[in-house]
Amino acid sequence: MTERVDTVVVGAGVVGLAVARELAQRGHEVLVLEGATAIGTGTSSRNSEVIHAGLYYPTGSLKARLCVQGRERLYAYCAERGLGHRRCGKLIAATDEGQLDALRALQAQALANGVDDVQWLDAAQARALEPQLRAVAALLSPSTGLVDSHALMLSLLGDAQSAGALLALASPVLSGRVTNEGIELQVGGEQPMALLARRVVNSAGHGAPALAGRIGGLDARHVPRAWACKGHYFSLRGRSPFSRLVYPLHDSAGLGVHLTLDLAGQARFGPDTEWLPDADPAGFDYRVDERRIPAFGAAIRRYWPGLPEGALSPAYTGIRPKISAPGQPAADFRIDAAAQHGVPGLVNLFGIESPGLTACLAIASHVAAHI
Ligand SMILES: Cc1cc2nc3c(=O)[nH]c(=O)nc-3n(C[C@H](O)[C@H](O)[C@H](O)COP(=O)(O)OP(=O)(O)OC[C@H]3O[C@@H](n4cnc5c(N)ncnc54)[C@H](O)[C@@H]3O)c2cc1C
Repeated sequence: MTERVDTVVVGAGVVGLAVARELAQRGHEVLVLEGATAIGTGTSSRNSEVIHAGLYYPTGSLKARLCVQGRERLYAYCAERGLGHRRCGKLIAATDEGQLDALRALQAQALANGVDDVQWLDAAQARALEPQLRAVAALLSPSTGLVDSHALMLSLLGDAQSAGALLALASPVLSGRVTNEGIELQVGGEQPMALLARRVVNSAGHGAPALAGRIGGLDARHVPRAWACKGHYFSLRGRSPFSRLVYPLHDSAGLGVHLTLDLAGQARFGPDTEWLPDADPAGFDYRVDERRIPAFGAAIRRYWPGLPEGALSPAYTGIRPKISAPGQPAADFRIDAAAQHGVPGLVNLFGIESPGLTACLAIASHVAAHI
């Protein structure tokens, strides 16, 4: 027999949980289907845990808008719920004169995105804030901070459940079919079942394009190719010499090997960029490759020459869910609803890489407005 449900959210990462919370609080009957045996085991637990200010993204893009909106909502939410977070600020360092134009362009980009608190620091001003930093100039972004992503996810789940949402773990959605009455989903796991949902939010992270490709009735033209780009993190043995986050200038795939802190003040460096040959999450290898340490050392010493020999130890890796090919400019978030693909009640979230954690509450409101 096919069970009927109002709204299914596929994926219990930070974005799926935020969407489930928002929809449940708006009165939807929500069922979250998660393939793994726990929430948040995907990209949501393998990132820098930075609350981004919204400097980098093209003005008007979803990434820019949802990051700026989401950041303030996230700070307010964390403060209200007593979740671990810290508005510690970050410095973006130009390490030679040749980078000054790019630093100025980034400041202009930030302003165009509505991030109006970014300050230009000359070398002496930067050193006064962070004596160990080597920079010819830097931008200070006071609105950048840190969040405890696991506490956040538990809180979002708690809110969703308080508003009536249900969570089913070990329930991978295998495929779907668009019918006149809604979207029929085949769910695997120990007790396979079929569900008929009026609305489906595909928030399956790395799995979202593949799942969309298995929804009969959704034109394949509306499913982007998935790419995966791995990033390593190494932690610093001993005390952090910096009290703010420190970033080099970014490239097209990532934000550069930056120094980030955890809420206890422990420093770690990463992520670098390594495009993977296969974007199928079933084959992901999250092991840390220690042979990357020398390259990390070289990247870090450009802005922190004082990095001691042998101070880096393997931490973890994360894999960016990309929908742009290697060498291409990073794609915007894709949040496709009926207006884009013509299937009523279906929302596909593709390419929810950084700043997806920062933006999760704003993404949720965007999805709710478009479903
Ligand atoms: C290296 C790295 C650093 C980052 N740093 C930051 C940062 O500092 N700040 C920031 O804002 N963002 C950052 N991000 C981005 C952020 O982590 C992501 O945008 C966010 O975690 C995405 O959440 P999600 O819920 O979309 O995906 P996920 O967390 O991957 O969740 C998707 C879930 O769907 C489940 N799933 C998949 N397929 C199925 C299926 N068929 N059926 C049922 N369940 C399924 C998976 O098991 C998983 O639990 C970073 C990302 C990376 C990779």
